[in-house]
Amino acid sequence: YVMAFVDELTGILGRRALEFKLKTLGKHYYLAMVDVDHFKKFNDTHGHQVGDDVLKMIAKLISHTPRAYAYRYGGEEFCLVFAESAQKEVVDALDNTRRRIDEYALYPKSLIRNKTKRGEKKKKKPLHVTASFGVAQQGESEGFESVIARADKALYKAKQSGRNCVSVAK
Ligand code: GH3
Ligand code: MG
Ligand code: MG
Repeated sequence: YVMAFVDELTGILGRRALEFKLKTLGKHYYLAMVDVDHFKKFNDTHGHQVGDDVLKMIAKLISHTPRAYAYRYGGEEFCLVFAESAQKEVVDALDNTRRRIDEYALYPKSLIRNKTKRGEKKKKKPLHVTASFGVAQQGESEGFESVIARADKALYKAKQSGRNCVSVAK
């Protein structure tokens, strides 16, 4: 079960678990796609290992979104599913999680300098990342692939509107 459904890096459920979940959900659920902003540049600047720390942090923060199931969709993309919530609750919850990511100060282990002359641990400045969100509500008898595609389109809009925001599909 663990090998099939749990994402090894972040410890949250992966894409296969998401697809199983979506097949069992009732009508009109909300699905949000979450994508880390400018993550290629972040990896290039700070290294892949620090990038992995970011993915773990994001997995943890999105998992605390109220009333949502959290998944790692793949790479630096995550997915949140709300089985029974109103649009305002969903958008507010997503915007809160977006803000928590924005405000999170990351001190990667690999960036903590060994020791100062006085023997204190000296930290470098914390790192920050942001993420963009696209959300869609499942339409009457709409298949999950189509809901994901619409959430992805909304995510693209969020990226175009400057990133670090939530965009809702029509
Ligand atoms: P955008 O704001 O438009 O999303 O830009 P971006 O750079 O985040 O998008 P792009 O798709 O070009 O880059 C995604 C990067 O995510 C590239 C890849 O190296 C990185 N990535 C994917 N999976 C992992 C992973 O497991 N660990 C780390 N460290 N990086 C990953
Ligand atoms: Mg991406
Ligand atoms: Mg990205």
